[in-house]
Amino acid sequence: MITINEHFLKLQSSYLFSTIARKVSEFQEKNKDKEIIKLGIGDVTRALPPACIDAFSKAVNEMGDDSSFRGYGPEQGYQFLREKIAGEDYASVQADISPDEIFISDGSKCDSGNIQEIFGTEIKIGIPDPVYPVYVDTNVMAGRTGIFENGRYTGLFYLESTIDNHFIPAIPSEPLDLIYLCFPNNPTGATITRDVLAQWVEYAKKHKALILYDAAYVAFIRDPSLPHSIYEIDGARDVAIEFRSFSKTAGFTGTRCAFTVVPKTCMAYDTKGNSHQLHSLWNRRHNTKFNGVSYPVQRAAEAVYSPEGKKQVQNLIDYYMTNAALIKTEMEKLGYSCTGGENSPYIWVQAKMNSWDFFDMLLEKAQVVCTPGSGFGKCGEGYIRISAFNNYEKVKEAMERITRVL
Ligand code: PLP
Repeated sequence: MITINEHFLKLQSSYLFSTIARKVSEFQEKNKDKEIIKLGIGDVTRALPPACIDAFSKAVNEMGDDSSFRGYGPEQGYQFLREKIAGEDYASVQADISPDEIFISDGSKCDSGNIQEIFGTEIKIGIPDPVYPVYVDTNVMAGRTGIFENGRYTGLFYLESTIDNHFIPAIPSEPLDLIYLCFPNNPTGATITRDVLAQWVEYAKKHKALILYDAAYVAFIRDPSLPHSIYEIDGARDVAIEFRSFSKTAGFTGTRCAFTVVPKTCMAYDTKGNSHQLHSLWNRRHNTKFNGVSYPVQRAAEAVYSPEGKKQVQNLIDYYMTNAALIKTEMEKLGYSCTGGENSPYIWVQAKMNSWDFFDMLLEKAQVVCTPGSGFGKCGEGYIRISAFNNYEKVKEAMERITRVL
């Protein structure tokens, strides 16, 4: 008899975005004449930069000619892209990362979800609350948690991010083995300073722990004093894995390209206490289960680092950040306390009521879709997330409608 992985039964069925989609479609069904503006799901709306399209098309043409055709590529990614990333994203901020420590992939969602396969099942895990749900659910699937009760999984250590700690979780007083951090943060938009990040690195070193650092929104950092990579911190190479994505940086959500950095000095231990290189474990996993990102997509990603690509990407980011500034200013004018929006495309708004009630009110009265904060964890209750990913005119219209109804 075939049996199932029963850990899947612990997962909460009403996934946040499917509930939002259902509510939106029910509303639209009843109100066919009303135009809904979506500032909910964090998907980009603007086209790929022309430099990426040029490189993409050129590479597609290469695939159509026997002399330049490429079959299976290296699972870890082509050297041309790994070298660009090492130079442009790491050497430029004095972070010592070599090209062969970079694994090109089809997404940070997949990488941050799959990475847990290389860790033991008995580890103690610290996960922020509120949080990008993938970190939690993938550990639930792997059986690292107990059941879901009172809004939380037993067996996980929740790192609470609240208004009292400016949405930066406190360093735990007890030893944890694996810690997820994401800055600029989804959903709160909060950023971490170099000093506080250094404290986390220190904590990880002290406890032989590992930090999984998700920097999917790094491109939105405008304050030059903020760290762009965890590897800007001394010693982080030994205790951190970093995830980055071209999704939000350059509009690759539908094109798919990302990367994960696993430094060769980053160690984890077996039950006898012997140390093992995480790089070789992840390499083994990648070789076995991943076929690499397609050649044209990697050429398109490489173009992000060309002089024209850089300018075009900056224009994209500036565009969304103009939206973010507008959302934040207007919500604050209405008397709502907001976090994020300055170095992040998300604005985390204190709703002064239950998250879903605020969501329903915005949908029904203003036909604007936001994301209820409670969907990201218990500490998200009483908040909503507004995303800056949309056309400026739509964001402006959304803010005018919200201003009218609030
Ligand atoms: N990490 C965070 C924090 C995100 O918010 C997202 C997407 O919304 C991702 C990772 C996924 O990135 P990708 O599109 O590369 O899978």
